[in-house]
Amino acid sequence: MAKKNRGKLLNKLPARGRGKCPLCEKTGIKLLYPYRTETNTLIQVCKNCRKK
Ligand SMILES: [Zn+2]
Repeated sequence: MAKKNRGKLLNKLPARGRGKCPLCEKTGIKLLYPYRTETNTLIQVCKNCRKK
């Protein structure tokens, strides 16, 4: 897969793709990966929480 989460694309995202991960509660991390929760809601999580 191409590097789709890098470079200038981040500047277009709110807070440049950074924020607080809802799963690990790490702050200032890039939230780039969609994750479906138990309540069937799609949220953005960090790379550490991407793997299932
Ligand atoms: Zn996380």
